[in-house]
Amino acid sequence: MAMLTSVGADTLGVFLLGGVGLVAMLVALRRRYRRGPLRHSADDSASEAKLRIAAMAFETHLGMFITDARGTILEVNRTFSRITGYSAVEVRGRNPRMWSSGKHDARFYQRLWATLRQTGRWQGEIWNRRKNGELYLQWLTISAVKDEQEAVTHYVATLTDMTEHRRAEQAAHWLAFYDPLTGLPNRRLLLDRLEMTLKGVGEPAQHGALMFIDLDHFKTVNDTRGHQQGDALLREVAQRLEPLVGRGDTLARLGGDEFMVLLTRLGGDALRAARVAERVAEKLLAELAREHAIDDQRFQLSGSIGIALFSDQGGSVDEAMQQADMAMYQAKAAGRNALRFFDPEMQAEVLERITLETELRQALASDELQLFYQPQFDAAGGVQGVEALLRWQHAERGWVSPGVFIPLAEETRLMLPIGEWVLRTACRQLAAWQGSASTRDWQVAVNVSILQFHEPGFVELVAAVLAETGAPADKLKLEVTESLLMRDPEDTRLKMLRLREWGIRFALDDFGTGYSSLAYLQRLPLDQLKIDQSFVRGVDGDATNAAIVEAIITLSATLALEVLAEGVETRAECDWLESHGCCAYQGFLLGRPMPAAALPT
Ligand code: C2E
Ligand code: MG
Ligand code: MG
Repeated sequence: MAMLTSVGADTLGVFLLGGVGLVAMLVALRRRYRRGPLRHSADDSASEAKLRIAAMAFETHLGMFITDARGTILEVNRTFSRITGYSAVEVRGRNPRMWSSGKHDARFYQRLWATLRQTGRWQGEIWNRRKNGELYLQWLTISAVKDEQEAVTHYVATLTDMTEHRRAEQAAHWLAFYDPLTGLPNRRLLLDRLEMTLKGVGEPAQHGALMFIDLDHFKTVNDTRGHQQGDALLREVAQRLEPLVGRGDTLARLGGDEFMVLLTRLGGDALRAARVAERVAEKLLAELAREHAIDDQRFQLSGSIGIALFSDQGGSVDEAMQQADMAMYQAKAAGRNALRFFDPEMQAEVLERITLETELRQALASDELQLFYQPQFDAAGGVQGVEALLRWQHAERGWVSPGVFIPLAEETRLMLPIGEWVLRTACRQLAAWQGSASTRDWQVAVNVSILQFHEPGFVELVAAVLAETGAPADKLKLEVTESLLMRDPEDTRLKMLRLREWGIRFALDDFGTGYSSLAYLQRLPLDQLKIDQSFVRGVDGDATNAAIVEAIITLSATLALEVLAEGVETRAECDWLESHGCCAYQGFLLGRPMPAAALPT
């Protein structure tokens, strides 16, 4: 029996048709169906049951029509009528030419027929016309049905309407590559274009520039005026910046208040390219700075722009992005409303910082951190206590100065776990010293960072560590700085009062170097002022330092606070201090920071 040739999976409903006879029977059967339900008769054979299944399958979600060998339409299904607008009666006996769109030339149809003759099948996109005159794109599959002598007896065609499909495809494409809020290209499209540019299609080499634009303080607009106004402002910004970016260049919105500009083909001379980029960036900044008005509300904006130059003969997308980003941060650091070019030295610094950060993270885990203790002496030369000072012995770098890694730990919030470790280690030591008469009275001073102190749960942490280590609270002294006190005065006061209830003491470190407000000295439960070492330095010969130190000593007497001089390096400084009423000292003259075991007992 002749088989329907090359039926694709999409010709669902046709696969049941075993051959010419079946197609013909199907056509006949459908006509009978239309006249009324088929009555069961004795000759209702298995093949007829098969046919009825085929007839059902003919009613698929795909439009279908069947023609004879000359192309005369014999039968169509309901989906066909829905798509084309033609009922079966209107098309039966006619040729599919009736709905041709006129959009394809004669060669198109010649090729279609040639393929159909050679392979028995054609499929592709084709424009046709609906009954209402509307042009639409359809996906059409035509299969030839042949008899035993390989002669074509019928054609079976299936079709789908591509209009919706196309529309959805376009919408998906738009969403994937454009920012819905502003209609600007999004990050992905910008990166695609950057990647294309970096591939360097032409000779000679061309420079380009990538700009990172971040609006200054945009968050404040969102917070104070609401997100709707924020969104409207972003749309306005997009509209105003777009004309400043030439054709062939790209202004994209990355999200939030971040925009990016890609300038291409700036010529072979790097310096000239930089000047062009700078001019564009200046225009963008000036436009941003012009007043914006949304619903009668006025906004004053500014932006920070980072620029990375690149050559289209190399370089990577990531590198250019990173450089523009870094330059933008430099523009922000320069006080905002500024533009900055990427600078390789800055990059080296940033990389070094990142490495150090990673290593510091590991240091805590791998026991590279240690606590040293620097003794504090009274006038009689006895040790009254120690200050715990953090040390980092790096496997390769050796000792890393706290002046380097502590600010880094603060910025990265690593200071939280590190500070907790310091507190626990110092308290353990404090508890251990309770066991010996010579060390029992020592106070242990622990430096507390701003971040740590203002973290919720700090008070509870101290309580837990004291309980866990068994250290006596009244021997623990927390060293705080003026900036810590000023950060959130109310939070500070409440926390200090709670800690003070258990007997914990407070020293004000580096006194005189911060924005001292004498008012809080009285309001806070402080015990000691530590005169900063910069004033102690040469106090015996330097009139200014002498005046400052004398003032601090008098102040502490008035407020009934203890006073300790830090960084005492010479006997002359020590004698001067003693004769001016300061009787507690800490410094290299008397003892350097050292491991607990090395302390004089
Ligand atoms: P600080 O709290 O003012 O500590 C005193 C600093 O002066 C220490 O520096 C100490 O080694 C140094 N010093 C002591 N005597 C002398 C002297 O006679 N001459 C000179 N030139 N320096 C002297 P260090 O250990 O480098 O620590 C620097 C800063 O790092 C500390 O200043 C403190 O603010 C911070 N720090 C150290 N350990 C910790 C810690 O565990 N937690 C926190 N949050 N900060 C810490
Ligand atoms: Mg200190
Ligand atoms: Mg200090």
